[in-house]
Amino acid sequence: MGARHSAADVAVVGGGPAGAAAAIACALRGLRVTLFERGASGRDSPGETLHPGIEPLLAQLGVGAGLAAVTGARHPGIWTEWGGPRKFEPFGADAGGPWRGFQVKRGEFDAMLRSRAQALGVVLRQPVAVGPPLLRDGAVCGLETDAGPVPARLVIDATGRSRWLGRALGIDSPASSPPLLARYGYVRGSCPQRDGAPLMAGDAAGWTWTALVRPDTYQWTHLALDGGKPAADWLPEELRGLLPLGRARGADVTWRLAAQPAGPGWFMVGDAAALLDPSSARGVMKALMSGMAAAHLGAAVLAGQAPAAQTALAYRDWLAAWFAADAARMGAFYRGLGAAGFA
Ligand SMILES: Cc1cc2nc3c(=O)[nH]c(=O)nc-3n(C[C@H](O)[C@H](O)[C@H](O)COP(=O)(O)OP(=O)(O)OC[C@H]3O[C@@H](n4cnc5c(N)ncnc54)[C@H](O)[C@@H]3O)c2cc1C
Repeated sequence: MGARHSAADVAVVGGGPAGAAAAIACALRGLRVTLFERGASGRDSPGETLHPGIEPLLAQLGVGAGLAAVTGARHPGIWTEWGGPRKFEPFGADAGGPWRGFQVKRGEFDAMLRSRAQALGVVLRQPVAVGPPLLRDGAVCGLETDAGPVPARLVIDATGRSRWLGRALGIDSPASSPPLLARYGYVRGSCPQRDGAPLMAGDAAGWTWTALVRPDTYQWTHLALDGGKPAADWLPEELRGLLPLGRARGADVTWRLAAQPAGPGWFMVGDAAALLDPSSARGVMKALMSGMAAAHLGAAVLAGQAPAAQTALAYRDWLAAWFAADAARMGAFYRGLGAAGFA
């Protein structure tokens, strides 16, 4: 069997924050890991605003020192405007001064995590086309790729909203919000009022996020809560007149939680397991944490230190509690704004 087909202890599918974190955490536990990413390196994706609390997690993964190099701007808090006067919400402060969040360049951020994984011995297959999972006696035991089958003792699905494994196994991931489509885009130019900190503004019809992501470049996201669809060339008011960089894009961010996020030989992590709309502002942090948690639990199962079935249930309960708390908080907030359809 050639190197391109060699077996792995762990096969991680999806090289975003969740998959890269899972790969790093497995490699740190001495496991042989192969990471499969279908996209080309450096591709930008949304999810660029990170709370200052991300730093300890990145330090644990061994990439804390690299964060500055992939950061395009920093901010000490967020402006909010919800049917009342605009107000500034700082992250906090300590003796060293105000805590500041990060606007990372996501293509570079994800590549930094994958490089760290490679430095720990993870084999990175990118770009690669992944086929269906390999199954034996109801357990997942590897996956098909364009270079042939890859046996693995543990498969981790970190494919984000495409939910590769969940779809292949027919695992339900029911919607727990009305259908939500986020539209987002980038503009170049100058908007001095947005240079100090991002703005989250909204009402019952929806919310709009605007942020400086790097010098001269701003990102916006708009989420309609009333099912409305803005015109293709729509821009937030404060960014009108600036130069759009490409076309606005859309992402389905309907809230979903996988009914079964782990099972025999497999885990789902990040957005593949639990998805909330970006107003939660914690998607990347949760992706890192669930990737690290799955690696920790999966390694214990592989080492015979934890029973597989109970470990899968514990992971499911942990994710579900987290999801329920966030969904309750966000639902109450949206209901308070007058939006319909949030339980
Ligand atoms: C408009 C918008 C704005 C957002 N803003 C923020 C924000 O400001 N802060 C924040 O924390 N979060 C934000 N989020 C959420 C954040 O982007 C996600 O929660 C986070 O990226 C999830 O990480 P992940 O690794 O689970 O998935 P992803 O980042 O989606 O990574 C999945 C990876 O898997 C790869 N992949 C998919 N299918 C396959 C396959 N079949 N084979 C191989 N590889 C595959 C993809 O190419 C990708 O690299 C935002 C989301 C949206 C849509």
